[in-house]
Formats: sequence, C-alpha cells, structure tokens
Amino acid sequence: MGRIQVLPDDLANKIAAGEVVERPASVVKELLENSLDAGSTDLRLDIDSGGRRLIRIADNGCGMLRDDALLAFERHATSKLRVAADLFSIATLGFRGEALPSIASVSRLTLETRSAEENIGSIVEVNGGKIIRYEEHALARGTTITVRDLFFNVPARRKFLRSEQTELAHIASLVTHYSLAHPDKSFELRHGAAELLNVTPVDTLRERVYQVFGSKLLEDLIDLGEIARDIPSEEEGTARIALSGFISRPQVQKGNRNSIYLFVNRRLIRDKLLLHALTSGYHNLIPPSAFPFALLFLDCPVSEVDVNVHPSKTEVRFQRGSFIHDYVRDGIREALIRSRPASSVPIRETPQPAAGLPYSEFTQRMENVPQSVDLTGYMRPLTPEQEAALPEFHLRPITPGGTTPRFDFGATGIAIDNSTEPTPPPDSVATVRLRVPDTHGSFPAGAILDAPATMEALSDLRPMGQLHDSFIIAAGRDGLWIIDQHVAHERILFEKVLREWNTGKVAVQHLLVPLILELSAGQWIEYERIQEELLAAGFETEPFGNRSVAVKSVPAAVASDEAERILTEILEIAETEMRKASLHDLRRGMAASIACRAAIKINMRLDATKIDYLLTELAATEYPMSCPHGRPVALRYAIRDILKGFHRI
Ligand code: ADP
Ligand code: MG
Repeated sequence: MGRIQVLPDDLANKIAAGEVVERPASVVKELLENSLDAGSTDLRLDIDSGGRRLIRIADNGCGMLRDDALLAFERHATSKLRVAADLFSIATLGFRGEALPSIASVSRLTLETRSAEENIGSIVEVNGGKIIRYEEHALARGTTITVRDLFFNVPARRKFLRSEQTELAHIASLVTHYSLAHPDKSFELRHGAAELLNVTPVDTLRERVYQVFGSKLLEDLIDLGEIARDIPSEEEGTARIALSGFISRPQVQKGNRNSIYLFVNRRLIRDKLLLHALTSGYHNLIPPSAFPFALLFLDCPVSEVDVNVHPSKTEVRFQRGSFIHDYVRDGIREALIRSRPASSVPIRETPQPAAGLPYSEFTQRMENVPQSVDLTGYMRPLTPEQEAALPEFHLRPITPGGTTPRFDFGATGIAIDNSTEPTPPPDSVATVRLRVPDTHGSFPAGAILDAPATMEALSDLRPMGQLHDSFIIAAGRDGLWIIDQHVAHERILFEKVLREWNTGKVAVQHLLVPLILELSAGQWIEYERIQEELLAAGFETEPFGNRSVAVKSVPAAVASDEAERILTEILEIAETEMRKASLHDLRRGMAASIACRAAIKINMRLDATKIDYLLTELAATEYPMSCPHGRPVALRYAIRDILKGFHRI
C-alpha cells in the first residue's frame, strides 16, 4: 500500500479553514462579502465576546434556493463562477466557494435563508463540519447566518486568539470599512447590548464619512472627487479607471496604517503597490514614520485586476501595476497641492527669492507642524544658488542622547537635521544641522547654538523679553538663551499632569453643560477600555447611548473647547498603544496630549509675570530640556561663541 492518501474531507476543510478563517474578523469578512454579493441593502451584525461566542449576520439579499442551501457547504461550491475563464473577470467579492464550508468546519453554524423565488426557506445546522439538521421553514427573504463557538474543535487556533477587545476592534474596523464602501446601504453592528455602528443609506460618500467619523475628521480631509482616466483596453478600445475618496491634509499624522482604507472595485484590500503610491503622494509632506488617513476607491475594469491571488482575497495584482501606481500617486499629490490650506506658506505665482519669506510665517508653521516634518516638497524648492548661499550652523538639541526632530522648512531654507551622530552615546547630545538663509542672519555663520546637559543654569536666568511673541529671550551665566514658550509650558504641564495622576490629586473643572461626543465604532471600543484611565486623568465621562459619550468634567488645565480634540487624540493613542498594551505609554501619551493643547501658544504676547512664571516653573521640572514630543525647549548661544563672534577670543 502506498503512503499517500487523499485527506478526508473534514481534515481538508480544516486546512482550508486555516487559510480563510484566521480569526473572528475573517469570518465576519467572508459573511459580509457574501451578503453584499447577494445584493443586500440592509446588513445587521451581532457579535458577542469579540466574535468567539457569537457572530450573526442577517441580510435582505437574494437568499438561497432550497436546493442550494445544502450545496453551499460543499467545498468549491459557488454560484459566482461557472467556467475557468470567469476567473479573469470577477465582479463579485467571493468566488472560491470555500468560505461557508471552512467556517462551518470550525464552528457551530446555522444558516437560515429564503430566496425571493420561493415561499419556503431552509434552515441548515452544521456542527464542526457535520450537517446535523436540515429543515424547511417559512422565513423572511434573505439570509441569516449564525456562527457560534468559533474554533471550538481547534484548540490550537483558539489559543492564538487575541483579547476580546482586539478581535472586536478588528471586526468593527472591517464593518466600518465596508459601510464606507457602500454608502447606499444600511449597516448595523452590535456587540452584546452595545451598538457600535448604525448607519442608514445616504447619497454620498461624504455623508457616510460624516455618519461614521463625525464632522471633526471631515474638516481635516480632502475630497478627491473623481479622478478618472481613459486607458487603452483590448476588448473595448478604451477603459475607464477612476480614483475617488478622501485623504487627510498633511497636518494629520497617524502613528500607524490603521487609518488607511484601500478598495479596488469596492473590495477591501491590503496592497503594497497602492500603499506605496499613497505614501509617495505624501512624500516630504509628512515624516516618513507617519501615515495619513486615507479612504481610497480605485475602480477599474475587472479585466485590469486579478483578485485570485490570495485565499483571503485581500491582495490583488494589477495588469499595469506601474501605471496604476503613478496614476494614484500623482492623483494624491495633485489633490494635496490643490487644497493647500491658506494658513500655510503661500506659493507665489511669480518666483520670489526663497529667503524673502517673513520669519513670522516660519514660526507660525512651527506651531502647525507637531513633530518632525519635511516640507521641502510642499513648498517651492530652493534654486541651487540659494541652496549654496545658505550658511550652515551646528545646533545642539536639548534632548540628551534622545532622538532629534528633523525639520526642513523648504522654501524658507531652514532645516534642522540630526545627520551627524546616528547613535549618540547615552549621555552626550546629538548634533543637528541648522540651515538658516542669509536674510535670517540673526546668527553669524559657524556659531554654536547648544544646550548644556544639565539645565541648572535655568534657575538663574534673567528674562529680557520676548521675540516675535513666541520666544523668551533670557540672559544666563553661560550665555544667551532662547526659550520656546509653547514647548516650555508644554513640558511644565506634562510633568504636572503626570504628578497629579500619580498622587490622585487631579484638579478638575465640571462642565455646566456636558459635552457630547459622538464616537466612531473603533473609538467607542477604545473608550470603553480606557474609561477608568480617563477618569483618573480628570475626564469624567458617561456613555450616552448610541456611541455617544457625555463628558461631565475635564482636567482643570484644559479649556473646554479643546476637550473634544484632546479626547479624540487620546483615543487614537489608546488604539496605537493597545497593540503594546502599555499603560505607562498610554498615560504619557495622554499627558502629552493634554499638555500640548493646554499650553500657551506661540504668537502670543506674554507680560513679565507670565515670563517669570514660565522660567521658574521650567527650572523646577525634572526634564526641562525637551517637550514630551522630543522638541527642544531652549537653545543657548554660549558666551564663548559670542566672544568669538566679536573677535574677543
Ligand atoms: P463564494 O462566496 O466564494 O461563492 P461561499 O462559500 O462564501 O463561496 O458561499 C457559497 C455560496 O453560498 C455562494 O456562492 C452563494 O451562492 C451562497 N451564499 C452564501 N452566502 C449567501 C448570502 N448571504 N445570500 C445569498 N447567498 C449566499
Ligand atoms: Mg463568499
């Protein structure tokens, strides 16, 4: 007897299930796709225990004929493909005929379905791949599939499931994505008694974005409209491809890819080519480590894209990959340039010397640009002559041994770059390069701006005034100090907030009228998870039904009109930190967010008492050198260099 045998069906199914059904969210994805393929306009999902205990989806689609209800559980049984050639023009989300048998083999599944053509429906119950019940029954048109106890018979899989919250977050994000791809349909998602998403049909994507994310996000988004292009096609002469959706303005910077939603022919995909095209569109507008929010729909003839690349159908292959790449990148780029906000540096119609840009604009944008950013491409580049004319400075940042932000203010000619010391020894300081155009010539070429490793000197600084309503100038024993008033205050508040939390003495202010926040499904999940932390931070909140939260108190330091933004930021930090599950980082992130919003801004005149207060408080902080985001607080122009500059030494 040979050693090879055909695997028994149930084993083969489990193997296939491993490919298709990785986690509760993959079940949700397959079932959602089936419902959408069935032409449903009303989809309702009920989840329990992050999908482990229960996933139920009810739709009003075409339903299954009685003869098909059992057949659907056979492997490779599908109504969507007939002949091999169909594989090259797939217009449905599903086509492999594997999902239902795979899911049924690792769960207890019930199918209830009735097709429009028949007035009697079917109920099928499958337990770990075995059909244990078939019944005919009067049912409403459409299909309801209930999946219980996922992986009950595959303990190895069960062990690898992440926490309930994580699984739920994946499910919520998935349903949210599909609801964005189908604004004309209603979607409802419930977890136990909580409603995570409930959207009714609307006419435009904009309205759906509003339903899902609220108006705050919309303000930060650019509508791509429809960027269409005709391309030559073998069959029809020309074929039309179109890019549409929303992308964020450069000031929105996300720490991960979670806010990038890519769809090809309304299919949610993860695609390196499109992701690359998107990030290339943002090249130089946001730092390489940051990601935008993007909701991109690429619609093209089905013959242009192969979807049969991966079992989970999340990858595609384009016939004309590099063309699609460049088309998407350029579309993004142009949209970003077109929508440049008025508050950023104006690009003049006629060329102007780059260095003619007023200094105040530079400081303005320092404020808008939270961390490291390279704006070179966003603004008019320098000519080679202007480039060559730039004097170079060496600047020692005040983050001892830490990472140094990189700023490149393109047309202004100002750039700060941590280029020289890639891995500074722990207690030294990194060296950064500061380029300042001639007209800013406030510092002679070659001067050293630095900061001592300790800031003891801070305690006897003598304030001399304010520069550009933004920087405090002070004389010290060791030289001239320039202190960024916003960053300094941020540092003070950051430490104060953390200190108050640790001692449980948070000063709060009660709001006369509670602030009502509408959260997205993803935010809601985070909110439930960190509600206690929020309370500890001074945000007393209460669920207000329908994914809304009533905020009854905020930390005393926070202005009530900033509260919404801070809370949104905190929920975003929570989402990033969730993967690392670090309470410490979450707290620091929350404190940084509060401090940044509550700190005095630049371009604000300060009187002598305020300046005194800032310097005294700053001197009392533990780490006065840098803000919680790593920006330097102060620069020092050493006496030695001043003496040198005047040729006295
Ligand atoms: P595929 O979607 O790749 O065809 P599935 O295993 O997901 O394979 O589904 C098998 C078949 O069951 C589908 O081709 C479709 O005919 C039918 N089906 C599944 N879900 C639904 C639904 N919600 N409504 C109507 N028909 C469905
Ligand atoms: Mg399917």
